Amino acid sequence: MLKQNKTDYSAIALFSGGLDSLLAVKWMQKAGYKVYPVYFLTPYMPIERALESARDNGLDLIIRDITEEHLKMMQDPETSFGKNLNPCIDCHALMFRMAGDMLSELDADFLISGEVVGQRPMSQRRDTLNRVAKLSGYRDLIIRPLSQKLLRKNTPIREGWVDLSDMLDFHGRGRSRQLQLAEELGITRFPSPAGGCLLTDRNYTLRIKDLISHQQMDEKNLELLKYGRHFRLDESTKLIIGRDERENDCLERLSDGLIRLKAKNQNGPLGLLTDDPADPIILNLALSIFWFYHPKAPQSGIINIRQGGKSKEHEGQKASPELSKQYRISYD
Ligand code: SF4
Repeated sequence: MLKQNKTDYSAIALFSGGLDSLLAVKWMQKAGYKVYPVYFLTPYMPIERALESARDNGLDLIIRDITEEHLKMMQDPETSFGKNLNPCIDCHALMFRMAGDMLSELDADFLISGEVVGQRPMSQRRDTLNRVAKLSGYRDLIIRPLSQKLLRKNTPIREGWVDLSDMLDFHGRGRSRQLQLAEELGITRFPSPAGGCLLTDRNYTLRIKDLISHQQMDEKNLELLKYGRHFRLDESTKLIIGRDERENDCLERLSDGLIRLKAKNQNGPLGLLTDDPADPIILNLALSIFWFYHPKAPQSGIINIRQGGKSKEHEGQKASPELSKQYRISYD
C-alpha cells in the first residue's frame, strides 16, 4: 500500500506499563498513528503491572518472551552495570533490537518508547539515549515522542512519516508535565513508578552473582530466585526455603527435578535442594538450616525428603541463627 499521509504509518512501542510508556502510546494514538504496544518478558520484571496498565487503558498488548536473549546479554553486556546488576543501556538496546526485528512481521515502520531526556541518571541522559539507539541497530528508526523535539531528526521525521509538531519536548526529572498530559489524555489509572526491575534490588543481585559465579545462570534457576530464602551449601547445591504460603506454592510448582523438603507432623515452609548433596555433612547442614525455619518446632524433628517418586525420612537438628546466616545469600 502506498503510504500517503502520516496516519498511514505505524509504530511498535516498548511498553513497560509505567506512565511514560503509556503516555507515549496514547499520545501517538491520539495523533492518529497506529501503535502496537509490546511488553518484553524477562525473569526480572513483574508482568502484572504492565497487564493491569494495558487493561485499564484499553491497550491490546503484545507479549514477547526475551528471557533467552536477555540472559545472553547479561553474561557480557557492552556497557557497564548500574548501581546493582542492572545493565540498563544494554537492556533498553536489546528491547529496541527485538522490537525492530518485529517491524516487518507487524508491517510497522518505526519504534517508539516513553523515554524522557534527563529523567534517569544512568539510562536516560541524552548521550545514553543515543548509545542505546546505536547499540540496538535501529538507531534511525527510534522516536521518543515525549522528548523527540530535543533529539536528532532521524528517518521518520526526515521522511515525514512523523510530524515533528506532534512531538513533545519533555526533559528532566520532574513529573508535572507527564501528570498534566495524563490528565489531558484522560489517563486516570497507571502504576506508581516503584515496583520495577529485580536487577535493581541488592539482595536479588547478590543471588544472581552467586548463580553467575557457580555457572548456574539458566531460566529455571532464575525463576527460583524470585521466591524464598536462598542458601549456598556447596558448589552445586543450594537450599531454598519459602517465606509464606504463596512462596511455598510457587516453589512446589517449580519442584520438578529438585529435592523437596517438608517437615513431618509439623506446619512449616517448603524447602528445595537444587542438587543431591553427595556429602552427608551437606545434607545434614541443609536439614538443620531448614529446621531452623520452624520456630515453633522442638530442637529436632523428622523431615520428609522427596526426590522424583521416592521419599525418605531424616532427622534434622535446629541450626543456630549464626549458622543459618552464614550460608544465606543475603545482605540482611
Ligand atoms: S531497570 Fe531492569 S528492565 Fe529496566 S532497563 Fe534496567 S535492567 Fe532493563
